[in-house]
Amino acid sequence: MDILIGEKSCMDTSLNENKIYFDCNATTPTLKEACEAAICSMRKIYGNPSSPHLAGLEAKTVLERSRKTAAELIHADAQEIYFTSGATESIQIAVISFLKDYSQQKKQNELLPSKILVAATEHKAVSQSLKHWISLLNLDLSIVDVAVDKSGCVNLEDLKSHIKEAAFVCTMAVNNETGAIHPLKEIEKIIRSQNHPILWLVDCVQALGKIDLNLSALSIDYATFSGHKIYAPKGIGFLFVRESAPKCPFIVGGGQEQGLRSGTENLPGVAAIGVVLDVLNKRKKKESHPAFRSEEELAEFQAILIKALKATFPNIMFNTDVEKSVSTTINFSVPGFVSSELMRIFDAVNMQVSGGSACNSKTNSYSHVLVAMNLEPWRCANAVRMSFGLATTKEEVLQAEKAIYAAGLALKKACLHLSCQLPMLQNNVETNLHGLLQFNLEASNTWVLYDQNTNSCIIIDPTEENSERVFSFIQCRNIQVDAILDTHSHADHESSRKMYVEKLNLKDNAKNFLGWPSENDFLNFNSNAWIVQQIATPGHTLDTICYLVFEKNQFQQKGISFPKMAFVGDTILSGGLGRTDFGISGIEQFYTSLQQMNKILSPKTLLCPAHDYDNSMATTWETELKRNELLRNAVNEFNPMAFQEFCRQKKALDSQLESKFIHGKIVCGLIDYNCQTKSQEPIASFDILLQNDIIAIDVRDEAEYLLYANSNFFNLSTPPINIPINRFANYISHLLKEKELIKNKKIILLCSTGARSLVAAKSLRRLGFDNVWSIDGGFVFAALQKDEKNFFAQSQFV
Ligand code: PLP
Repeated sequence: MDILIGEKSCMDTSLNENKIYFDCNATTPTLKEACEAAICSMRKIYGNPSSPHLAGLEAKTVLERSRKTAAELIHADAQEIYFTSGATESIQIAVISFLKDYSQQKKQNELLPSKILVAATEHKAVSQSLKHWISLLNLDLSIVDVAVDKSGCVNLEDLKSHIKEAAFVCTMAVNNETGAIHPLKEIEKIIRSQNHPILWLVDCVQALGKIDLNLSALSIDYATFSGHKIYAPKGIGFLFVRESAPKCPFIVGGGQEQGLRSGTENLPGVAAIGVVLDVLNKRKKKESHPAFRSEEELAEFQAILIKALKATFPNIMFNTDVEKSVSTTINFSVPGFVSSELMRIFDAVNMQVSGGSACNSKTNSYSHVLVAMNLEPWRCANAVRMSFGLATTKEEVLQAEKAIYAAGLALKKACLHLSCQLPMLQNNVETNLHGLLQFNLEASNTWVLYDQNTNSCIIIDPTEENSERVFSFIQCRNIQVDAILDTHSHADHESSRKMYVEKLNLKDNAKNFLGWPSENDFLNFNSNAWIVQQIATPGHTLDTICYLVFEKNQFQQKGISFPKMAFVGDTILSGGLGRTDFGISGIEQFYTSLQQMNKILSPKTLLCPAHDYDNSMATTWETELKRNELLRNAVNEFNPMAFQEFCRQKKALDSQLESKFIHGKIVCGLIDYNCQTKSQEPIASFDILLQNDIIAIDVRDEAEYLLYANSNFFNLSTPPINIPINRFANYISHLLKEKELIKNKKIILLCSTGARSLVAAKSLRRLGFDNVWSIDGGFVFAALQKDEKNFFAQSQFV
């Protein structure tokens, strides 16, 4: 019955070939021997530990052996260890145990302190459980956040200031986002300095195996642990409850686990975690084991990675205080790159990292941990967490080092990363960038109309959010900037135009405050391709200007033609109209401007708004007329809506804006997000790529595309062309022109996960391109299918 560790190898890497998995704080792969133990428990030792026969006794032996191993590792008594499904469940038991005890005591002592102190960087499993149970049980308890310092460690002074009123204290041993180690001994001193009893919960999930946890030397009442953070499977964990601490079950039934956690034990999980805990015990005794690295090795790995990051991103800021953290977590922010961008680049070099914390990735808010550490908003927005694990190998770290350099070089090649000092192996790749570029961060657009032939451009709607990116683009290619144009002044902030002029070292050639550099309404900037006209379209603000772009050859031949593009500021948004309820707005002027635009714009004119609230990228006049009833009625040539009625409806619309702010900036108009229903989602599986008459487009960023070793993953006879999202609006204008020619072709869009390609596909569908599809799950899903096929082909268990 040898289910413990085999002789050699540590990790089954067959599924992880060349993958650098640096998200071990989110979860780890499972140790090969732990997998074997789980399988053995499913196939051979499958008895129920509560059964008195031999099969049951065998299972009980495994259960108790794992319990003893866990107790040994944290210096506890085996009776104090309870197996659960993981840390979240363990936390519930601890919380409920405290709450039950508190309510009983409160009946006898009205003056009992009623505060629960929770370190501000605690995992949501703790803070949300407390909120949930307190509200469900209708208890009169308040939760107080205890501040942390710049390193993310509990601020002891703040803890001291609240401790007199505390009934329960929740702290963690090691933080999951930054790796910060909390000073448990000092925290204990403060807690135990009180005369009244205080229960103390410590979330030890990220500490196990990384720092020494001696629960016999500390007075912690409840400590929680999770298997899947230490190379055991998901769905197994354990709870330490001190003998003397109150206990109340969360799941009741058959009375397993000394009545504290009913339900037949998850024996495969218990067997697996037992194996890992055994390895950890051996490692603690300095017995080397091929599975896990020593402290020194982990510290060396951290140093290698930090060095590579610093060399690649000279202006990097570390959010992890190396001196006060475990060496397996490195949290950092790079100016100019939001988390998702760096994550995608790292993904392209096969390195998986996380943006802050896996738990935050669904919500759009900044990590509460980094906010609690008082980091500037940009550092929160740009935070990336690299977390490796005890089983990470030196080869993996050296591969990661190379991957970091490769990512930096690809960003440099794509002109996104000027501060990168790494030497280029080749010259810049010459990409065709002629046309329109869209820079979009936090829903704000900055547009650059770039003539590659004359290497000159104009910039429209310069915003602070996009400034770094625009400057890199301009400076890297040494582009001449002929004008920087605002479409309007802003109700809540100064224009960034002056800052752009200064940072780009330009002589301000503006003839008016919006930046127009010409004496008349036409701008013949240094381009053979386009001519730009300004027209006043007051309304959203009284000074709003719309910039129309005409193709020069057409304009010269016919004297008059329809504009190819229009920079419409906030007058027309994709799916909505700009607000007209500011002090500097004019609703009457707005009504007239819409009618004037209807005369000037062609149905196919590409409209480029100042904001993109629903990821439309750009729109057309025809599309907006079709989907926006108010606009359509206002500009109806034969029977326009009366001004009073327009006013009434427009005011009602503006008043519906639920939130007037997004990312701290005023929202400039109400958008109809529901114009595309779920059932219409333009999603297809990759078989569609095998059909004839397709145009395959890879919409990933240029740097990602440059890095991805196998961009023709699907083995197409013509590999996909790369049109990154920031050049997609330009591609739309091209498609609008070629609509007839491509009407029998399918446009198939691809990216890594299918998210960005779906956005692009929806945008094209909105504009009337009906034969457009996004590949479901993108490259990731395709790779997964391939991996799974290989895995099951090799597996000995099926
Ligand atoms: N506490 C911390 C610090 C964690 O990192 C996690 C996992 O994300 C949890 C608790 C929850 O653990 P589990 O997934 O086992 O419920």
